Amino acid sequence: MPVPKRKRSRARRDSRHANKFIKVKSFGACKNCEEALLPHQVCKNCGHYKGKKVMTPKTERAAKRLQTRQTQAASRQTRMQAQQAEESKAE
Ligand SMILES: [Zn+2]
Repeated sequence: MPVPKRKRSRARRDSRHANKFIKVKSFGACKNCEEALLPHQVCKNCGHYKGKKVMTPKTERAAKRLQTRQTQAASRQTRMQAQQAEESKAE
């Protein structure tokens, strides 16, 4: 019969038992968007807490940033075109 070569150290044994008490965390759903949510935390998906909007989520901020960047680029382009047209008139 195969027998272990060495005694398992206390540390090894206890680290195995450390997993014994892990529990699945309790979680609910966001009232606004039905996203899975840990209790007493703001919804990261829609920024709601207890049915009220308390912050703008990361995705919304990113979308807004992208929009402002695009409008800035567009205005810059029209400005450049106007400048070029003026220069060509002057020549
Ligand atoms: Zn939500």
